[in-house]
Amino acid sequence: MYILRCRARDRGRSHPGGLFWPDVDQLLAPLIGHRSILTHSVLAPLLLLTVWRHRVTAPTVAWFSFGIATHLVADLLPRAWVGFALVQLPLGLGNLGSLSPLWIGGNALVALWLCEWLLRHEGLAITRLH
Ligand SMILES: [Zn+2]
Repeated sequence: MYILRCRARDRGRSHPGGLFWPDVDQLLAPLIGHRSILTHSVLAPLLLLTVWRHRVTAPTVAWFSFGIATHLVADLLPRAWVGFALVQLPLGLGNLGSLSPLWIGGNALVALWLCEWLLRHEGLAITRLH
């Protein structure tokens, strides 16, 4: 079993932001489609860590990433992998088809790993395998 421990006060307010971030694509649906590959990925946390790293803290990005992971795990359970369940490419270029679950699951794992890595690096979490 894998355990992630952190102090309650370190659990950030950015978690809800990450939880709802992927569905921001609905505001831009004509351009990027719903379940966009751009928002249903770890792209946003990676951009925060690189482009805006002077404006955000590592714990903020960590919990934002955890929120995205939570959203993506929920997205892994559609009734069927058809229509809106499929990950959309931008500009109407189609969708990932049968690779959609792999994309969403893989990004969920990376987002979870990123959260753990950032918190451990900041000394805000203790993780270990049992
Ligand atoms: Zn979604």
